[in-house]
Amino acid sequence: MQYLSTRGHPDRRRFCEILLEGLAPDGGLYLPEYYPQVDAATLARWRKLPYDALAFEILSLYIDDIPPADLRALCARTYTAQVFGTREIVPLKKLEDGLFLEGLSNGPTLAFKDMAMQLLGQLFEYELARRGEQLNILGATSGDTGSAAEYAMRGKKGIRVFMTSPHGRMSPFQQAQMFSLQDPNIHNLAIEGVFDDCQDIVKAVSNDLDFKRRYRIGTVNSINWARLMAQVVYYFAGYFQATTESGQRVSFAVPSGNFGNICAGHVARMMGLPIDKLVLATNENDVLDEFFRTGVYRVRGSSDTHETSSPSMDISKASNFERFVFDLLGRDAARTRQLFDEELGRTGRFDLSRDPAFAQARTRYGFASGRSTHADRLATIRDTWQRLHVMVDTHTADGLKVARQHLQPGVPMVVLETALPVKFAGTIVEALGREPQRPAAFDGIELLPKRVTVLPADAAKVKSYIAAHCA
Ligand SMILES: *Cc1c(COP(=O)(O)O)cnc(C)c1O
Repeated sequence: MQYLSTRGHPDRRRFCEILLEGLAPDGGLYLPEYYPQVDAATLARWRKLPYDALAFEILSLYIDDIPPADLRALCARTYTAQVFGTREIVPLKKLEDGLFLEGLSNGPTLAFKDMAMQLLGQLFEYELARRGEQLNILGATSGDTGSAAEYAMRGKKGIRVFMTSPHGRMSPFQQAQMFSLQDPNIHNLAIEGVFDDCQDIVKAVSNDLDFKRRYRIGTVNSINWARLMAQVVYYFAGYFQATTESGQRVSFAVPSGNFGNICAGHVARMMGLPIDKLVLATNENDVLDEFFRTGVYRVRGSSDTHETSSPSMDISKASNFERFVFDLLGRDAARTRQLFDEELGRTGRFDLSRDPAFAQARTRYGFASGRSTHADRLATIRDTWQRLHVMVDTHTADGLKVARQHLQPGVPMVVLETALPVKFAGTIVEALGREPQRPAAFDGIELLPKRVTVLPADAAKVKSYIAAHCA
């Protein structure tokens, strides 16, 4: 399998080459040259497989530069009941007739990002050892991504993590999760500023090419193809649990921010998984809902980006969206480059409303969308708890609210659970007047000793910290 850039760069790469990279050299995103097709007989065979074996089958369609026995071992080491809490790894729970919840949040940090990040940790360690190289991961987080990255990379050979976060602005639970890690290869940097300052610092450091090369700086952001590919697996696993035979159709509802999670659903559908609708749910930051309703993609400014009670979906633009638009335009790279490089750069928006391709987002690619607000979130959390005795987090509540608007008789709707309620306790208390349920392993983590360095919002200070800790 070879990978190409959505903006038409002539080079082709193999999986392990793009694994440790970010964007393609022309600023595009990497995609496989084609989507491998899965037929009914293969689906029937895969239905019986445990999660790690299913992951191996799917990953081997996209990775041909890791020996199969090694790849199988990496999958087996990643997707264990010990790490993810159950034998199913992503257990499906029935909420009511035709409506299901797929549990993707039982990994070490209680959010779905563990599903991909845990695999990424194994792949990075494997590939770096093979090359005899080291990598220093620099990131910015407002919560879920940073903690998932730290728990995936802790104790991994050849890898250090330098994770910036806005000082005092994450929830106490999220701070405790990250700052209680005592592994010497994990560095928490609390920046005196907001999340945007953290992102600006990461950008400034990465733009210093000398420093970047000298200290082997890399990232684990959501545009990484390996993360997306790992997420494809749970669409298959959810499908198998919601059906008894292949041929039946299932819809998925996905709480969305950067379009990573639902893009994996798009890939699964392109491979031939019988997905009826991909229902995209946003919060008040409705960049993507607006596109699927109107055909206009309009990036927001920071004054136009709201702080909401589903904060992991507070985005101003959706960094994976270019992948879908590339497919929507029949893989026309020149057109994709023109939209994302020129039009977005110049005007902050593009308009496909009059392009015949836009209608196909719905008809051919199965997309539907909706938006959920703070009031919707509270009402959904309350209703789901009181009537169905299930406690959902704020992001999952957005998915559930929008899912209900797109139910169709005879087609099971699977809502992806993207985090557990304990991560967003404030809003749960507001909705239910009680503290969220907390898995026993997390009792009292707020009281553990914390390992964190507070730094001013100054890229030079972050650079000297990194230099001093890369012996
Ligand atoms: C990251 C995240 C999302 C959004 O996922 P995308 O892949 O960025 O669309 C939704 N919910 C939670 C809890 C998250 O951590």
